[in-house]
Amino acid sequence: MEKVAILIETKNGEIKQSNFGVVTAARGNDHELYAFLIDGGGIDHKAALEAYGIHNVVEITSDEGPLPWNPVTWSKAVISAMQHFGINTLLGLTSAQGKELLPRIAARLDAPLIMDCIAVNLAGHTVEKSQYSGKTIATIITHGSLSIYGMRPNAIEPETYPETADLITFLTEVDSQALTIKEIKQGGAGGIDLTEADVIISGGRAMENTENFRILRQCAEPIGAAVGASRVAVDAGWVPHSMQVGQTGATVSPKVYIACGISGSVQHFAGMKTSGLIIAINTDPEAAIIKRCDYFVVADLFDIIPLITSKLKAQLG
Ligand SMILES: Cc1cc2nc3c(=O)[nH]c(=O)nc-3n(C[C@H](O)[C@H](O)[C@H](O)COP(=O)(O)OP(=O)(O)OC[C@H]3O[C@@H](n4cnc5c(N)ncnc54)[C@H](O)[C@@H]3O)c2cc1C
Repeated sequence: MEKVAILIETKNGEIKQSNFGVVTAARGNDHELYAFLIDGGGIDHKAALEAYGIHNVVEITSDEGPLPWNPVTWSKAVISAMQHFGINTLLGLTSAQGKELLPRIAARLDAPLIMDCIAVNLAGHTVEKSQYSGKTIATIITHGSLSIYGMRPNAIEPETYPETADLITFLTEVDSQALTIKEIKQGGAGGIDLTEADVIISGGRAMENTENFRILRQCAEPIGAAVGASRVAVDAGWVPHSMQVGQTGATVSPKVYIACGISGSVQHFAGMKTSGLIIAINTDPEAAIIKRCDYFVVADLFDIIPLITSKLKAQLG
């Protein structure tokens, strides 16, 4: 029976929903699934993790309590746990945190690493990954006993599969030589992580300025949506880069993506084409996005968005 670990990410004390898609992807072939939690809360998260098929919830901690965020100490702690439990396959998210940890772990273990996977077949040691701005899907096979995969957040729909999990505490040493983190600042995109959001409302060149993004935020607020942007809006300085969707921004897979005043360049599509449902609001019926979306409204976004906002507010109170 192969032992597979999933590196679980939390935010504000809650497990990020996209982790459950990763757990779903790791299930099957009699794998024994381990959930690695580094920032505490093992007892609080056990029920949620076993509902998706986890067999062992491992809280990685130290004599002094949970390890504060530090990519060097955390990656070393994960490696110690992998070696202790005999884990050959590690999955995580291709998130900001995953991008810090998974390459460090792979480098130290000299293990193959594939990031931004959209599907995985652990029995066959293969993963799928979109390439060339989403024009092709590559199937990649890894060789050797160890494999590390970073999954694209929300690429896999979570499916429950109840199991009974053991809660294990794994004590690790704190590396005093590790790099020192002096300050952690919240990114400018606000509270909702773009890669985690079920619904994203993005604005492009048509937004014209920073102030106009307010109407997108007002529309997003009642439904807990995140607000994104095209590169033009970012390059113009209207919104921070953390809000950019696309080839040189975030890759997102929300259930619904609403593109407002965005033409639908290949570079923008590269970051959102795996969205469940794409809706475009654009004044130009010939815009590229109109041909590639599921629904469109040919209209001025400054007319449509306030209407949607008032409807949502009326419906949701
Ligand atoms: C190497 C490289 C990497 C890149 N990476 C990215 C990336 O990560 N993300 C990204 O987004 N771009 C990226 N780009 C830029 C990309 O090529 C496009 O220039 C950009 O996506 C266009 O942004 P836009 O759709 O907002 O603007 P435009 O293409 O100018 O489109 C604006 C749209 O708004 C519509 N419109 C105008 N007024 C209104 C209105 N009032 N209501 C409704 N619709 C209206 C217009 O009809 C038009 O379709 C990259 C480019 C390169 C070369």
